[in-house]
Amino acid sequence: MHNTFGLNIIPDNEEERSNALRRYKVVDTPSEDSFDNVAKLAAKIFNVPISLVSLVDSEEVFFKANVGMGNAKIVPRGVSLCSLVILKDEVTVFENAGTEPCLLSNPNVAGKFGLKFYAGAPLITHDGLRIGTICIIDKHPRKFTKDDEAILQGLANVVMDEIELRLSSIQQIEELMEASKLLELSQNNLSKMIMQAPVAMCILRGPEFKIEIANTKMFEFWGIGNENLNSPVFKQLPHLSNDFEPLLNDVFYEDKTIRLEEVKTQLFRDGNLESAYVNFSYQPIRELNKTTSGILAVATDVTSQVLSRQKIERAELTSQELIEELAATNEELNFANNELTATNEKIAVTNEELKSAHNNVQVSEERFKLAIENSESGVFDTNLKTQRTNRSLKHAQIYGYPDNSKDWTPKDFKRHIFPDDYKQVKYNYLKSFKSGIFNESFRILRNDGFLRWITTQGKLIYNDKNEAIRIVGTIIDITEKKELEKQKDEFISTVSHELKTPVTSIKAYAQVLQRTLIGEGNAKNKNFLERMDIQINRLENLIIDLLDTTRIESGKLIINQAIVDMGMLLKEHISDLQLVNTSHKLIITENTEVTVRADKERLIQVITNFITNAVKYSPLAQNVKIGLTVNGDKMICAITDFGKGIPPEEYQTVFERFHQVNRSDMNLGLGLGLYISKEIIVRQGGEIWFESKVNEGSTFYFSLPVYKI
Ligand code: ADP
Repeated sequence: MHNTFGLNIIPDNEEERSNALRRYKVVDTPSEDSFDNVAKLAAKIFNVPISLVSLVDSEEVFFKANVGMGNAKIVPRGVSLCSLVILKDEVTVFENAGTEPCLLSNPNVAGKFGLKFYAGAPLITHDGLRIGTICIIDKHPRKFTKDDEAILQGLANVVMDEIELRLSSIQQIEELMEASKLLELSQNNLSKMIMQAPVAMCILRGPEFKIEIANTKMFEFWGIGNENLNSPVFKQLPHLSNDFEPLLNDVFYEDKTIRLEEVKTQLFRDGNLESAYVNFSYQPIRELNKTTSGILAVATDVTSQVLSRQKIERAELTSQELIEELAATNEELNFANNELTATNEKIAVTNEELKSAHNNVQVSEERFKLAIENSESGVFDTNLKTQRTNRSLKHAQIYGYPDNSKDWTPKDFKRHIFPDDYKQVKYNYLKSFKSGIFNESFRILRNDGFLRWITTQGKLIYNDKNEAIRIVGTIIDITEKKELEKQKDEFISTVSHELKTPVTSIKAYAQVLQRTLIGEGNAKNKNFLERMDIQINRLENLIIDLLDTTRIESGKLIINQAIVDMGMLLKEHISDLQLVNTSHKLIITENTEVTVRADKERLIQVITNFITNAVKYSPLAQNVKIGLTVNGDKMICAITDFGKGIPPEEYQTVFERFHQVNRSDMNLGLGLGLYISKEIIVRQGGEIWFESKVNEGSTFYFSLPVYKI
């Protein structure tokens, strides 16, 4: 392979290593929040513009998470520095790549990109194979201490745990689906065979002996139609109950196979109930756990044979009659026998198939059990028709039960959801019937009274009519993870509170100093102070954003609503903003008289954020346009810029915390403004959205319900 390092970048265990990578099924998959979040965290912790989670494949390096490298997904292995990281267990660091001989010909270092600093920690599998990296990159040289290395390695471990966890979820769901497919297949075969059988056959299910399936011959025997499917057999045929119910009970409860010959009973023929002789066989149908769930019944009408024999026995026939009768009976008997033999053979084959399918299911169940016993996740499989759930021991334990012996139904699932989260879970659960996926994190009140956070990943399974019939998935207790997140939020909250007071004092001193210098006519230092003022304002805004974010996270963002004249607010506030934004002309293209009920200061915060972004992300344009319109009972405010726009792959995440499109050195924001704006608008019953075209510009909108006085 061509490489730019002048070194051998293929480790000795390459084959084993790339096989290991393949087993995780993670290469070339779309981005996932859990990996993106670790990459974002790494970029924040080390304050670098670029951070990647990469997987080193045979020929290429694939980016599973990418902060700051635009849309790059794959690069050739021969030029990526990540290929060097997987050569050893320790963290690889180039504090100044410009002075590293082996990197001088590397296009990332020598070329326009101008890479200077690189640090990467290998992702090491549980069996010691290095499959990828988490790395951070800067365009300036910098120092990287041993402590920094330990933090980066810690983040690599988090990524690796995530990859292992992801795999175990995938495997569990795949195994379960495979097993259930086999079972379904063999059950379908059995149903088909019953329907085509030349003798009367049916399956009676449960202790009530409900008619689950029966062929036309069987319905003819009974003299009823197939609208009686799913109804208890003796409810439809009470005259048979005395003779047959005790027999069926024996088969069902005592697990016996019963064969009866020439039983005298009554059958319908041409609409009349007539005496008849029938051969019966009843076989129990056993489930995987060896309990009997139903009965397979076969019946053959042997009336004519029995009657002929009786006639012979009574010697009522002349010898000629006897010969004719015997020949006819023999023929019938032969025919019936042939049919019976064929059917028996088919039953034997289907039974064999069923047995082997059951065995397969058992084997995969065993493997499945073994996998899930060792896993942190609980597994469930809910039949949405019968409302019954098969669940693993771990599932029961996560819900605070000592074992999984108790039945579990969707009602139990509902009952355990923490009341505050119920509405949201219900909404997303109903939505999942369309999307086929139910992924949700919420709180549960466990059986033992503890409040815990869990995350569910479920997949819906549909029948031919596109009705959801099952939901299969895993649950994980994420309380500890949530607790860590809470601690992190509290930390940010404390730090921003602590920073707020000194920054406010510095600002006041700067203003006093500025006034003094103006008095003294000291123009040069006044200029410095003005620049300092801009930086202090920026810092102050960052702290305000951080504080708002922690308030949102802890549900403490206060909204003080009053009646607001939007037209007036826009006019006044835009002219204030024009004073500080001298690079662009802020043009109000449309303004309407409209009132809303909202928090005025918070609305100003949203408009300021929209305008600041419009100016910030259109450095080459001259205008920003602002429009206020009413559509039905909605007020809509739109802010349009003619700047760099937002690429489609970022549409989903623009309103997320700490999200920044194309993070560059120029961008000094934290990626919090839109996250806060969304909360402010949504909390007041409004909506927020945008339209954008790369290199043409964006329009950001928010709407609020019109307030009618
Ligand atoms: P920031 O402080 O980074 O501006 P925001 O939450 O306000 O944070 O915006 C998030 C990201 O969305 C920005 O980093 C930017 O990449 C993108 N963005 C926001 N507004 C615009 C716009 N008008 N044009 C292009 N990109 C934008």
